Amino acid sequence: MEKYESIKKSIKGNLRRNVSLKNYNTWKVGGMAEYFFEPFDLNELIFFLENTKDIKITFLGNGSNVLIRDGGIKGCVICLKETLKKYEISKNGIYTFEAGFSCMKIAQLTAKNGYGGLEFLCGIPGSLGGALAMNAGCYGGNVWEKVSKVFLVNESGKLIEKSKNDFVIGYRNVNLENGNFFVSATFELEKNKLNNSQDIIKDYLKDRRNKQPTGQPSCGSVFKNPDNSHAANLIDSLGLKGFKIGGAYISKKHANFIISEKNTSSEDIEKLINHIQKKVYQEKKVFLETEVKFIGNDL
Ligand SMILES: Cc1cc2nc3c(=O)[nH]c(=O)nc-3n(C[C@H](O)[C@H](O)[C@H](O)COP(=O)(O)OP(=O)(O)OC[C@H]3O[C@@H](n4cnc5c(N)ncnc54)[C@H](O)[C@@H]3O)c2cc1C
Repeated sequence: MEKYESIKKSIKGNLRRNVSLKNYNTWKVGGMAEYFFEPFDLNELIFFLENTKDIKITFLGNGSNVLIRDGGIKGCVICLKETLKKYEISKNGIYTFEAGFSCMKIAQLTAKNGYGGLEFLCGIPGSLGGALAMNAGCYGGNVWEKVSKVFLVNESGKLIEKSKNDFVIGYRNVNLENGNFFVSATFELEKNKLNNSQDIIKDYLKDRRNKQPTGQPSCGSVFKNPDNSHAANLIDSLGLKGFKIGGAYISKKHANFIISEKNTSSEDIEKLINHIQKKVYQEKKVFLETEVKFIGNDL
């Protein structure tokens, strides 16, 4: 990054070199970011991108759906975990959140104000930006359903407004153009006439605690569900719960969750993912596609 020193002097945000990414993903694994940037606000993000055209950019939200490889990430990781958290409520249920806003907080805030439709976000430990990139969802809902428009920035720092109809939205997938990143989204919500959104949230959270290894280092479901079946059932049917490679093992509570022990390498996790794919294909003739995104380089 040619202008590293001069950019660093002129910003309020946090720009550093050689930063371990272990604290920036929920598996707590992975190597270093060559450069790591947490912008103070949207204007600063734009300024940064305008001045760093010579470097590869990778966006990270809460790191709850990525496997960062042990060799780390070349270029600059822009992380929104601690930033871009502004929101605005305009008339009657029109909510705009910046991309760093947490999904859980979006669920709580809208439910508290009596608006329904986003309760399912309460158990998704990601940022809004990550949720939009993944089309995160559960309990029959997905994040794009109530979106009307989004703002993106591109790698040159240009702000772009797009409507939901500009995207093809699929199962844990959206056709985001390379080099474009979400910076905010607007939701159009309706009053929940039954006024039970907060009860719905309590039920969802209880259900998760019963079925998932909440509180342990994971990335949620590792694999997408294939058509007409569940990845967890396929893995469980092969008796793989508890199977371990290095410090990574398949949760005994939910077979689609991989848990990482302290000091696990991402290589262990990746080997375990490959092993599961191989076994399920051999025995069931089903290829399990990963939901989790692999980023960075091997050692
Ligand atoms: C315990 C647990 C439970 C989970 N339950 C669910 C669930 O029920 N449903 C579900 O769908 N997911 C679930 N997940 C997975 C994960 O929380 C979601 O996919 C979440 O939306 C990811 O958001 P993030 O901010 O952590 O994204 P990250 O993991 O940081 O990034 C994910 C991908 O999005 C890209 N990205 C991040 N921010 C941006 C941005 N601003 N613009 C463009 N691209 C960006 C990254 O480069 C990466 O490719 C769970 C995870 C855990 C740990």
